[in-house]
Amino acid sequence: MSLLKCSSVFKAFGNIEALCDVSIDVNPGDILAVVGESGCGKTTLLRAIAGFETIDNGEINIKGQTVSSDQIHVLPENRNLGMVFQEYSLFPHMNVESNIIFGLRSYDSVEKKNRVKEVLELVRLPGYENRYPHELSGGQQQRIALARSLAPNPTLILLDEPFSNLDSVNRVDMLNDLQSIIRDSQIATILVTHDKEEAFSVADSLAVMVDGKINQYAKPNEIYFYPKNYKVAKLVSNAEFISGNLNNGLVDCSLGSFPYFDSTGKMNPVSEVIVMIRFGDFRAVYDPNGNFFVSSIEFKGSHYIVTVKSFRSSTYIKSIESLDTNLAINTKVNLVPVNPDPLLVFPKNH
Ligand code: ADP
Ligand code: MG
Repeated sequence: MSLLKCSSVFKAFGNIEALCDVSIDVNPGDILAVVGESGCGKTTLLRAIAGFETIDNGEINIKGQTVSSDQIHVLPENRNLGMVFQEYSLFPHMNVESNIIFGLRSYDSVEKKNRVKEVLELVRLPGYENRYPHELSGGQQQRIALARSLAPNPTLILLDEPFSNLDSVNRVDMLNDLQSIIRDSQIATILVTHDKEEAFSVADSLAVMVDGKINQYAKPNEIYFYPKNYKVAKLVSNAEFISGNLNNGLVDCSLGSFPYFDSTGKMNPVSEVIVMIRFGDFRAVYDPNGNFFVSSIEFKGSHYIVTVKSFRSSTYIKSIESLDTNLAINTKVNLVPVNPDPLLVFPKNH
């Protein structure tokens, strides 16, 4: 049985449709990542699930019980959910122990102390009971916020961009820990983020939201390889998008003519399209008569990302090059395909 089920949820603020026909289904131990640009409805979705917002239409079910509909609204404190927000949300005047105990009303004092000890071990900060929030780093504060949300054994944890204020080292650590905590405890989690790398690295399934609607809901690798439309492709991939024309089963673009894959499955075989070129689909190769030149080179530790521009158009493409590359700024090059897969194309008027 699914732990959380949202069926066709609608929520408007005046004439803004913050949630439009949103359906998701989360199982125990699963991490669902929700990605989308700022303002697309991610926080509203979490607030509706947590019970901080009523919904206009549809239904939210937790463990088979309807908690929200146009008739029903179970209060947040009766939904048994944990939440962690982007802003550090610890009570500044309380130490770590009191912060965590705050949500443990029905426990006696020995049980409370034991539970605090347990969750501190879970978030890898054992012995931190007597610290105050200002004595903790940002990453540690978020770990304590996570510990506090885990303490009452919630069915579901809702995380609203909890790592976006952390530096990348802390973030990767937190993500790895979060993943093992969730899997071990069989708690389901919804992680809202605007960072695709974060979503791809931890999620079992991914929902991509655009303007209040889920445009694609699938396994991360499926969305990565087969984004359903141009907006999803732009949100989830490291790619450039150039114009092209379908013609005789190939797509013609400024890089040449290539086999293509029509993501909609119903495009007119002769039409103007947007062609998706992923970083690394093409390599830059030195050619004194090349139509392109190297405009920048970024050192990435294990490789370079080389940006190549066209002399003739505004096209630019990023190529992944090994550390022994002989390319330099302004080197004339041509682009040759590396990847034998067909290029993804999307309708021009998306
Ligand atoms: P996200 O978290 O993806 O950035 P939100 O869910 O916060 O997006 O907001 C979705 C849309 O709903 C935005 O256009 C936002 O301005 C609007 N919105 C959110 N909460 C309210 C509110 N309480 N009153 C009016 N508009 C709101
Ligand atoms: Mg938000």
